[in-house]
Amino acid sequence: MKVEALFYEKFKDRVHCFLCPHNCVIEEGGFGKCNVRIHERGKLFTINYGEITSGALEPIEKKPLHYFKPHSYIFSVGSFGCNFTCDFCQNYTISQFRAKSEFISKKDLMETAVKLKNNIGIAFTYNEPAIWYEYVYDCARLLKEKKPHLKVVLVTNGYINEEPLDKLLHYIDAMNIDLKSFNDRYYKNLCGGSLKPVLKTIEKAAGVCHVEITTLLVSEKNDDLKEVESISKFLSSIDNNIPLHLSRYFPRYKFKNPPTDINFMKEAEAVGRKYLNRVVLGNIY
Ligand code: SF4
Repeated sequence: MKVEALFYEKFKDRVHCFLCPHNCVIEEGGFGKCNVRIHERGKLFTINYGEITSGALEPIEKKPLHYFKPHSYIFSVGSFGCNFTCDFCQNYTISQFRAKSEFISKKDLMETAVKLKNNIGIAFTYNEPAIWYEYVYDCARLLKEKKPHLKVVLVTNGYINEEPLDKLLHYIDAMNIDLKSFNDRYYKNLCGGSLKPVLKTIEKAAGVCHVEITTLLVSEKNDDLKEVESISKFLSSIDNNIPLHLSRYFPRYKFKNPPTDINFMKEAEAVGRKYLNRVVLGNIY
């Protein structure tokens, strides 16, 4: 469903979107980098409001969140679109393409979450929730107003500007944030983004809700112990109890490099543990 977007302003005959750090300036008829925001006659619209491409009741550990309501299940939903273009994206069919979707109103989504047995809440995941903002915000707010016992979780790349993040954080209980690398060139060349805004999101979110971090260690790209050390040091400077998930890469989308070496994964875990109390290896078995 197409609805008017939040966080934009008209700028001569163009619009300036300031939802995420791309800060796109968009010509009439054009889309922003995320491919879900379009400029039409002086207004910015989002086209993925309420559009669900996948939904499932899943273990919270799959998000991955290992230290937030362990052994529980959460209703997980996603749409399409992303503000990154990672060459190794594990969900590229919905992040990089407009996948088939079904509209579900915020009320229906909440009612589904309430009806599901053993469900602790809603996780916005699979594609990037930051650029699904209007729907995520509306649903999170409704859930917290009507069913405050239910939890709201975001699984995100953290690439969002401060003002929208602050507004949304009021309604968020937990986040898993990707910290893909500690190298700005990696973000630029492989993901089409930049490092600093992600670090800012982590710092801000960690002060407000439960936060866990995921780093995908991609063979021959960031399978570097120095980089793992930089990430771990940064997280420990915020709080050494922040869990770090070091996730093993497998070839996907445009990337054909071999899977990350298991021995390297174990060495990376040992480096992480020098600075952090909770380091978890993912995609190992
Ligand atoms: S949300 Fe989309 S349109 Fe807006 S700045 Fe980010 S990439 Fe550009």
